[in-house]
Amino acid sequence: MSCDFSLGHYRELLAAAETGGYRWASFDVQPRPGDLYLRHDVDLSLEAALELARVEHELGVRATYFLMTESAFYNLDSHVGRETLVQLRQWGHAVGLHAVHPRAELDDRFDNVIAWHNPDPGYVSEPVPGAVNVMEPPFFTQGLYRSDSNRHWREGCPHDDLAAGAFEWLQLLIHPEIWVYEGATMRETMESMLDAKRRESLDYLAADRIDLS
Ligand SMILES: [Zn+2]
Ligand SMILES: [Zn+2]
Repeated sequence: MSCDFSLGHYRELLAAAETGGYRWASFDVQPRPGDLYLRHDVDLSLEAALELARVEHELGVRATYFLMTESAFYNLDSHVGRETLVQLRQWGHAVGLHAVHPRAELDDRFDNVIAWHNPDPGYVSEPVPGAVNVMEPPFFTQGLYRSDSNRHWREGCPHDDLAAGAFEWLQLLIHPEIWVYEGATMRETMESMLDAKRRESLDYLAADRIDLS
């Protein structure tokens, strides 16, 4: 098994979690042995989020998608944004707010759960009034958290440990863009994403009846 950042290996990761006997959990329930909190911070691309969500839906996997309301890269109030919210819910996923500190402004699009975007250590684990902060205890517990940030697993790809049931429970943070777009480095993956966004933008221009002849 090669630990690349591809949809193929993502499917293998999910299969490993099934082999290990884990249960797909959401942040409205405190961790129990065997729980797997599959968390997606959507920083850059709703299209990537939808693609990952489709794969999970096919496999019967339930995740929590954290979406931004103040991203420079997508607009949750756009046509695509509203459709993404509907589709994620239809596939059974939970949706939380990927908030930019200090604004944790939840509305009825979101469950009462937030994940801070690029948090500083000073507030990352502090309680948030009226919401679950995914990085507060017990949801964040040393040794029971893995993240793929910038294509770098600090403690290695977790597929072996998942298959072996080695974690009592786990919060697993996966950024959809890293797995959906192709590339051998973060730079190449981002270039692939930007190529896709360029094609999408051309489609939006055509839909807006811009003369592209
Ligand atoms: Zn792996
Ligand atoms: Zn983020």
